[in-house]
Amino acid sequence: KTFEEGGFSVELMKAIAKQAYEKPTPIQCQALPIVLSGRDIIGIAKTGSGKTAAFVLPMIVHIMDQPELEKEEGPIGVICAPTRELAHQIYLEAKKFAKSHGIRVSAVYGGMSKLEQFKELKAGCEIVVATPGRLIDMLKMKALTMFRASYLVLDEADRMFDLGFEPQIRSIVGQIRPDRQTLLFSATMARKVEKLAREILTDPVRVTV
Ligand code: AMP
Repeated sequence: KTFEEGGFSVELMKAIAKQAYEKPTPIQCQALPIVLSGRDIIGIAKTGSGKTAAFVLPMIVHIMDQPELEKEEGPIGVICAPTRELAHQIYLEAKKFAKSHGIRVSAVYGGMSKLEQFKELKAGCEIVVATPGRLIDMLKMKALTMFRASYLVLDEADRMFDLGFEPQIRSIVGQIRPDRQTLLFSATMARKVEKLAREILTDPVRVTV
C-alpha cells in the first residue's frame, strides 16, 4: 500500500513527503480507507503504531471538504486524549499537516494557563486537541462552542476511563452533533469502553493491529 492510493491532495502529499513517511503503517493501511469513506471506526492500536496520522490525515481532508468554512466558529475536529503529554504529541503531529492548509490547531490541557488557553481558543481554530477535564472547563468558560464540530476522536479511550474521565467524555460527546464522524482508539477493549463505543459510534468498523 502507498499514500498515493489515499487520494490525498497535492498539498497533503507534500506534507507527508516532508515527514519522510515512505509508506503507511499497518494501522494506517487499515484505517485510512475506512475513515476517509466517512465511517466510524474502533481502532485497537498502541502508541508507536502510527495511529495519530491515521486520524489526523482524514481530519485534514474532512476539514478541507467543509463548505463555507469561514462562516462559522469553533473547532471542526475535536481530539480527546488522556494526558497532557499525549495531547501535546498529537498537537505536534496535527500541526505538521495542518499548517500548509491554513488549518489552525489549538491544544488545551491542564498545567497551562487557563487565561492563555481561553484567549487562544477565542482567536479561533479548526482543530482542538484536549484532555477532557480542561476541555470541559473551556466549554464552561465559553471559550469555544461545538456547533461546527463534526469529527471526534477519542484517543487511548481505555486510559481515559482508567483516569476517571468517563463523565467528562460523555459530556463532551453530548455537546457534539449526532451526525458527526466518531473515531475511538484504545490499546485494549475493556467492557466499559465497549459499552461507550456501542452508545456513541454509528455502525463502526473495527480494526486491530
Ligand atoms: P504514533 O503511534 O501515532 O504516536 O506514531 C509513532 C511515530 O511514528 C511518530 O513519531 C510518527 O511521526 C511516526 N509515523 C507515523 N506514521 C508513519 C509512517 N507512515 N512512516 C514512518 N513514520 C511514521
